[in-house]
Amino acid sequence: MILLVALAHANGLTSHVTISEWAIPHLPEGELSDILGDPALWPWLQNGTQFPDGGYPLGEAYAETAHWEPFQDRYLAWIAATYAGDYRSLEARQHIAFLFGMSSHGMGDQVFDSLYMQRAYQFDAASDWEGMSMDEATDVALASATGGQETLDPVVPTDVIVPLMADAGVEVSASTLESGQLLTALAISYVREAGKDPVKVAEYVDAYPWAATHMMGRETPGAPEWEAAVVARYWQSRWALLNGESSSVEPILFSFPQDGGYGLPTDHTSVESRLTVVFSRGLVPEVLVPDLFEVVDTEGTAYPLQAPWVFYGAGSHVVHLAPEADWPADTDFVLTVHPGAHFIDGTDSTATVEIEFSSRPPPNSPDEALPDDCGCAGRSGYPGLLAAVLGAIGVGLRRRD
Ligand SMILES: [Zn+2]
Repeated sequence: MILLVALAHANGLTSHVTISEWAIPHLPEGELSDILGDPALWPWLQNGTQFPDGGYPLGEAYAETAHWEPFQDRYLAWIAATYAGDYRSLEARQHIAFLFGMSSHGMGDQVFDSLYMQRAYQFDAASDWEGMSMDEATDVALASATGGQETLDPVVPTDVIVPLMADAGVEVSASTLESGQLLTALAISYVREAGKDPVKVAEYVDAYPWAATHMMGRETPGAPEWEAAVVARYWQSRWALLNGESSSVEPILFSFPQDGGYGLPTDHTSVESRLTVVFSRGLVPEVLVPDLFEVVDTEGTAYPLQAPWVFYGAGSHVVHLAPEADWPADTDFVLTVHPGAHFIDGTDSTATVEIEFSSRPPPNSPDEALPDDCGCAGRSGYPGLLAAVLGAIGVGLRRRD
């Protein structure tokens, strides 16, 4: 289906909407959680989440622009200026929900492509990557497992988006934005129905035997549940910016493995041995010096890293770090991210971040790893941290319905 292939860049749209849905329960209680968790605002959050891909099948430049932080920063600045920090009105909240949907989409694509798709390249190397879209296959697989997403009436705040796009150098009309949004709704419908058709689902699984069968759960870095966790952190950093609290934004949103993670594979040629760091702001990659990152073990031995790979280059949040040689087995390490990363908004990271990880196998059971009330959920196995944290605060991943 040509329409769908053209719409499926990175995560398919059902995956994106599901990620936004699953990110909401990760938010701490408060105004942001009240806004994004408000069922009355869900149409704005879902439409904002769908919005960036609508321009691709139309060949419209707004699609790519809408994915990235520079444009989303413009929208954020407009919201902050227009409502002067008072986000109690319905109109302000609708814009916030739409913007945060776009943020979810942009971050989701980066996390999925840098982690999940990179694995798919290795584990589905025999697939026909040109002939069938992996994004479509994974989208239908997710719909098959979850029931897919509801098709909503298209909503785009064109009166605000059209002039903001013009400011960003992209001329686009309101009717083009509306046409694109309608296409995204059709993609949601197609994938939901395809997910109910066992014959179609089997075709997608045949096409991508690994990628179409690892979308659920937390086994695979970059899978939707992980994307949702990263998106929730990103939303919190965006919310801080929206409230003029840039000083409270941590430079690192997330890492794979997470702090305290076990069982990192040692083979330096495998995608699984990489360390991946997700920054809270878009990066200027040219000035990202290798010295920014340092890995030592508990004896103080340093492990040289290959040049940092800023995934997708300028404006990206994701950096892969691969060792020059195999990691030694059964060893504990600390990755230090020093201050001085340059961000596209002209700021620099100022905090030092340390992430502990290990090539030792995970402890046998979560109970062994987690003494009662130790506050050290990060000691659980990788990727068990999320489960431990969610369990500790009594939050489970939920479906809206
Ligand atoms: Zn996209």
